[in-house]
Formats: sequence, structure tokens, C-alpha cells
Amino acid sequence: MSLNPSERPISQGVCCGCNLLCDDVTWIANSDGPEPLSGYCERGAAWLQSILLPEAVAYVDGRPQTLTSALEETQHRMGQSRHLQIVGLDQLDQRSVHAAAQLGLTYRGSLDINFQPVSSFEFALQKVGRVTATLGEIRQRSDLVVLWFCNPLASHPRLLERINAADKKVIWVSDQSPNSPMGLDFAGVFEFSRNEADECLEWLRLVVNAKSPSEFAEIPTQFAKLVDLLVGARYVSLFADPNGCSDPFSAVSLHETIRCLNDRGRAVLFPLRHDHQGLGAENVLLSVFGLARAINLNTGHPRFHWNEFSAIEQIRRGETDVVLWICDAVTQEQIAWQNRFPNVEWIIWNTNHQTQPPNSGVFIPISIPGLSESCDLTRLDDLLLPISSNRKTAAPSPLELLGTLIASSTHSRSL
Ligand code: SF4
Repeated sequence: MSLNPSERPISQGVCCGCNLLCDDVTWIANSDGPEPLSGYCERGAAWLQSILLPEAVAYVDGRPQTLTSALEETQHRMGQSRHLQIVGLDQLDQRSVHAAAQLGLTYRGSLDINFQPVSSFEFALQKVGRVTATLGEIRQRSDLVVLWFCNPLASHPRLLERINAADKKVIWVSDQSPNSPMGLDFAGVFEFSRNEADECLEWLRLVVNAKSPSEFAEIPTQFAKLVDLLVGARYVSLFADPNGCSDPFSAVSLHETIRCLNDRGRAVLFPLRHDHQGLGAENVLLSVFGLARAINLNTGHPRFHWNEFSAIEQIRRGETDVVLWICDAVTQEQIAWQNRFPNVEWIIWNTNHQTQPPNSGVFIPISIPGLSESCDLTRLDDLLLPISSNRKTAAPSPLELLGTLIASSTHSRSL
């Protein structure tokens, strides 16, 4: 039943439906939950109206249990572990990632952001570094927005509105045409294969570094307009899908091009990451260990290898026997994946309260950062935002659970 909207107070908040973290949203309380009033895109509205548990029911090997006994079972299984893998740090807020790092060190286990392989962008970041800005700066100062093998309408639905793209030149570079209605007049649409895009970047760098324009009279005609637009812009902001480069060399090339354009004007690069709080989690791991992901602590000090110490490879090689997996859904594909490794004990902490628990392992529903738990989250431009939550859930916060596990451990190592 809806109350009269004029009788209900309007609440302002931050949407955490994606890592754009729109902070201009409003909602009103309804008797059957919050109702989005302004600012929420479809995805954000679904996030705001996530189903929260009236009571927290945990499961051990498919049977319902109280939280206390599920946590005791977790302690027991972790206590027996030879090698604990903690994965899914991209589902956690900043303080919880700190606690997860402490737990990993306590158990001399391993830590990873998620089950995704390291992207080419991360290699490039290590090699070339990043030139970035805040979204506010882009909104105020950028004159050219480049959508580089990405579709923000799908990944970050309000991005173009938030940077005021309608008042800028926007160009589309991809191996696909912009088939969704973006409401923009593109200053250029360039349908290039990834190899052609790499070649175009090489030409661009040659032109920027050229002593005289006549040196490059032979620039291929299909690249000339894009090169002109990029070289002629005062402030280029380039948004890219982290999977949008053909290989690490092309990711390095993209990063180098951005640096190169800074010799003439200003240019910044934003990976439009799909993982929720992956960037924030990497920042915490960097501050604690000096390494961003795929960290192995078996020897008592942090070691990194993008492949060898990734969660997926350590499980595949049979080195991991207990996995603490923080996730937002347990899909059929993931259950099939669990079935491939029957000797691994799975401890699943889940933010999607409608998830059907698997038949084996310990399963605990947890609060949702920013929705049912106040916390600090990282926006895609690296800005740390304090988010206050108004909705309460019976599900425990991961910070509480991690704190209990650390306190009950008999190990003594600390950060
Ligand atoms: S763009 Fe992202 S943060 Fe903004 S309202 Fe949509 S889901 Fe929420």
C-alpha cells in the first residue's frame, strides 16, 4: 500500500548500483520498501529495491542454520585449512577489505579481487601509469569525450549525463556500431577492428611527436579524421572497457597515447570497470601490501603473480583447500564450477538475498555495502565517498564476520 507522497519525507542518498556512485538521487519510503523518486536509472532503481532478508538464515551443506552455528562451522573449516583463498574483495567496502587482508595474513592464505583474469589494462597501468581526473573536472573542462570500445549506457547508464556529454564533442570508436539510442550527435563514429585501432594510435603518436605535419602526409585516410579530432582537442577524456584492448601491448599503447597527448594539451583515461568495488579493493591491497591483486601470503610475506597466484589458478592446481568467496550471486555456471573441484570447501558470503544456497559448503547472507550498511566506497574516478545507509537488514556485515574470525583465530600475525 502506498502512502500519499506529500506526507512522506524525501531522502537523499547515493546509488551504489554501479561504481559511478551517483550522489544526486532521491527516494521516499513506502510501506513496502523505498521508492525511487529522482536520479535513479533502471539499474539503480533495482539496486535500491533489492530484497532484504527479514531474518538472516544461513546454510551449512544445504541445511538451514543459525548465523552463530554457521560462523562456528566457518571457523572450524578455516581452522582445518591448508591454504585459505579469500576471493571477491570487489564486493566489499574499504574497511572490510582491510579486515580481509588481515585475515589472509593471519591464515597465511591468498587474496584476490575476483575470479576474473588480470586485464591488459592492469599490465599497462603498471608499465606506463595512469593519467586521470575527477568526473567533476571532466564535466567542467573536457571538450572531447572518446568512447573507446565501450558502451557506458550498458555499464554505467548515467555516465554521459553526469559528465555533461551533450555539451561536448563525443566520438565512438569500436568494432561495433552504436546501436543503442544514446541521444547524442556523434562528432565521429569510427568502426575499427582492434588491430586497426592499435594502428591508428601509432599514427596518432607519430603525428603528435612529429616536427612538421608534412612528415606524415601518407597517414591512411581512414585514420586521418580521428587523429585530427584527438590532436585538435584541448582536453580529451577517453573512456574504455578494460577488455577493449586486443592484448597487453595494445593496452600499453592506449596508455602511452594518453601520456603523449598530454604533451600538447590535457588527456585522461578511465577504464569503465565492471567489478563493483574492484578499484577500491586494489587501492587497499596496494596500501597494505604494495600489490594490487593475486597475492599469496603462504610464506608470511606478500608475493604476486598475475596468473600463478590468481584464485582461479591456485584452485585449479589443487593448492587451495578452503575458499572464502564473497559474491553477489551464485549462478548455475558457478555451481558447476564448484562441482569441478569437489575437494575444495566453499564458504560463501552472499549479498544477493534471493540466491538459492548451494547444497554444499557454508552459506551466509551478508549486508549490501551502501544499501544496508554505511561505509566508504570508491567511485570510478578514485574518489572515496562516505555512504550512509537507511535500510536495515538482519544479515550481518562482512566487517563483523571478519572481525569475529580474526579474533577467534589462534594465529598471531598482524598487519
Ligand atoms: S548510473 Fe550507476 S550509480 Fe548512477 S543511478 Fe545508475 S546504477 Fe546508480
